[in-house]
Amino acid sequence: MGIECTGYDLAVSNEGSFGPHPNIPFVQSDDEMMLFMDTLNDIEIVVRVLSTETNFNACEIQSIDELKIFAEKAKFPSHALIMKKSRYDFSDIRKGISTWEAMSEQFNEMRIRHGSVFVETDMRAMCNPTRMSVIEKATQRLADKIKLVCPICNTPGLGITAVKEGLPCELCGKPTHSIISHIYECQKCEYSNEVRYPNQKETENPMYCNFVILK
Ligand SMILES: [Zn+2]
Ligand SMILES: [Zn+2]
Repeated sequence: MGIECTGYDLAVSNEGSFGPHPNIPFVQSDDEMMLFMDTLNDIEIVVRVLSTETNFNACEIQSIDELKIFAEKAKFPSHALIMKKSRYDFSDIRKGISTWEAMSEQFNEMRIRHGSVFVETDMRAMCNPTRMSVIEKATQRLADKIKLVCPICNTPGLGITAVKEGLPCELCGKPTHSIISHIYECQKCEYSNEVRYPNQKETENPMYCNFVILK
């Protein structure tokens, strides 16, 4: 990592991964991880934001018309495209394509040269404002987490290390699978704090109850 070469003891890094949403079928997602490191005090603070706000897409394209449809869906030209020979062939790859002229030019050239063109959305942050806004959210979340300081030892980055289910049903009072509390723990000392009702509700809608049959 960069931190070893520079001699600084604080670093922030970001990594995004893109693909099918883990819980929502047929929906693409952007999973952004932000890491803050303090090597002097041996502290690592990590947050993640999983967002369905993404233009992530990839497809083998046969014609200019098909390419235009793909481009519009990908929010081109404010969001750039990448072209390569085929999905797993990186021998000829053109990145950061961001004008209609360059797009047709590159497409025609690639098609003549290789007989096929694989087009994908350019997910590098500077080429992708949608990704930038998810990174902004993740950065805010990281800053908020850094500001959560342990009341015992003053270490920053108190994080949620466990969640408890069991929010009571509004109708019968029996526990549901919904979250009743978050457990915050310090990474340096034994401090731990249970925060009840993190979603600002003390009972759950009976539609999530395992015991009530709604008529
Ligand atoms: Zn119930
Ligand atoms: Zn502590």
